Amino acid sequence: MTSIAANLQAVRLRVAAACGVAGRPVDSVQLLAVSKTWPADSVREAAAAGQRAFGESYAQEAVDKALELAELNLEWHFIGPMQSNKTRLVAENFGWVHSVDRLKIAERLAEQRPSGLAPLQFCIQVNVSGEASKSGCAADEALALGHAAAVLPNLRLRGLMAIPEPSDDSDLQRRRFAVLRQLRDRFAAEGLPVDTLSMGMSHDLEAAIMEGSTLVRVGTAIFGERRLA
Ligand SMILES: *Cc1c(COP(=O)(O)O)cnc(C)c1O
Repeated sequence: MTSIAANLQAVRLRVAAACGVAGRPVDSVQLLAVSKTWPADSVREAAAAGQRAFGESYAQEAVDKALELAELNLEWHFIGPMQSNKTRLVAENFGWVHSVDRLKIAERLAEQRPSGLAPLQFCIQVNVSGEASKSGCAADEALALGHAAAVLPNLRLRGLMAIPEPSDDSDLQRRRFAVLRQLRDRFAAEGLPVDTLSMGMSHDLEAAIMEGSTLVRVGTAIFGERRLA
């Protein structure tokens, strides 16, 4: 039998096993359940099985779901591509955003974050795959963006995020994730301490945890294959 609760348990076991192999405490890796395209009832099912943090890529879809599930007090993370016309929805409705890849977006989020809410936690999305990927800022631009965005009001820089190109080669996966880990160390060396490495998805979370991931974003392994909308 597969159910969201059983899938969640299986993913928790994968995370724990990978932490064991990496010699890391199990609680050093947070699980973000990526519920994009799945209805509020699926989120409710995961929440009933103990999951609190959910990732969404489409702002309006996420806001509708969050409204429907408001009484559950869940934590919502925006992980999709950031467009200027979506910053207000994100600033007003999410606790976290993982996909800040340019200063203009960070500035809009800072300006639009309601002052009555806690600062919006954010990660800088970095392209660790070179020409094989288009999303995220270039690795050699991340530090400058970090310095500029870290001082904006109503935001709090928490870390770095990457989505490497899909690959079944675990050595390649690890090399990509290592780029983000090394960048995290450079942030720290330059006085920009970040505690979050948002990396690893359904097919590569083990490689990500070996390279220091603190937050894996898992959709398919929890909710099943997404159908095209
Ligand atoms: C969809 C998505 C995920 C989840 O991917 P799965 O392969 O379904 O686990 C993780 N991160 C981002 C940014 C996504 O868009």
